[in-house]
Amino acid sequence: QKTINKIAAGEVVESPKSVVKELTENAMDAGASTVTVEIREGGTSYIRVTDNGCGIPKDQVKEAFLRHSTSKLSQIEDLEHIFTMGFRGEALASIAAVAQVEMTTKTKDEEMGTLIQISGGEVKTIQDVACTEGTTVVVQNLFYNVPARRKFLKKPATESSYVSDLMNKLALGHPEMSFCYINNGASILHTSGNGDGRASVFYVYGKEAANAMMEISYAKGDYRVTGLIGKPELSRGNRNYENLFINGRFIKNSIVSSAVEDAYKTRIMIGKFPVYVLNLEVDPSLVDVNVHPAKLEVRFKNDDEVYDFFYDAISSAFSGQVL
Ligand code: ADP
Ligand code: MG
Repeated sequence: QKTINKIAAGEVVESPKSVVKELTENAMDAGASTVTVEIREGGTSYIRVTDNGCGIPKDQVKEAFLRHSTSKLSQIEDLEHIFTMGFRGEALASIAAVAQVEMTTKTKDEEMGTLIQISGGEVKTIQDVACTEGTTVVVQNLFYNVPARRKFLKKPATESSYVSDLMNKLALGHPEMSFCYINNGASILHTSGNGDGRASVFYVYGKEAANAMMEISYAKGDYRVTGLIGKPELSRGNRNYENLFINGRFIKNSIVSSAVEDAYKTRIMIGKFPVYVLNLEVDPSLVDVNVHPAKLEVRFKNDDEVYDFFYDAISSAFSGQVL
């Protein structure tokens, strides 16, 4: 049983970044407005995610760590809502199978919160604890009991750069949330959560970028896109500044990239790529989810439609602009 859990965990938990991704998604699902992420040594020795969300009721804390346990049942019935959920109840179980995990959590109705410690899938402690509303999860020594996987962790600097990327995406995609990110004791990112997308760009890419972004809002048929696109002179030498979110989740998609890049093509030099932060709102049934949920890639039901939509959205943002 334990071995099975460890193997299954490998599909969900690949790296410190995937742990942070799962825990921050849980925080968002819990309605948090503030999320703090702290890592040490690239997250290989220590990861902490603290949120001010709804917390987990005392009698459900143990259960939350069981495989396939989830409180998000209504979404599971509809597999197409994969965006709005983590791993169908696998994340906490998977993480706890391959690390030393400690969670403190409290709902607003409870007087005392709950502390649970789980290592290698075994509950070590569960007791009452005084804490504020919300949840803190600390994950230590990832893969301590799976040497074969521990060996494949990259250098702390590399793992922490992946986590930093993720934090940047979260900040860009969710200006309405306040993110605090601490790496080896240093505060790296602290967003206000005031809902201003331009402010998020400022935090992540700096002032020059924030000033050179144009707002866009465009809807047609089943699709609606909002966000910020960089003026052509802001273009960069790689695609890392192309940020697409679908229903609030960061996604990579080559159709959308090409459509946006093609719309920019007459305006930027060859070898340059646009800077943008776009959120596509679309019914999940128009997006194919038969890709591994840990991957950031999706397939659209109708690529041509999506291509045309983005091409038109960007082109119409440019027309009427004095550039
Ligand atoms: P999933 O997110 O797919 O439901 P997880 O293993 O990530 O599965 O979490 C299991 C359950 O634990 C969730 O359904 C939720 O009820 C609860 N949970 C996990 N993290 C939090 C959190 N930060 N705040 C509130 N509840 C949480
Ligand atoms: Mg989850």
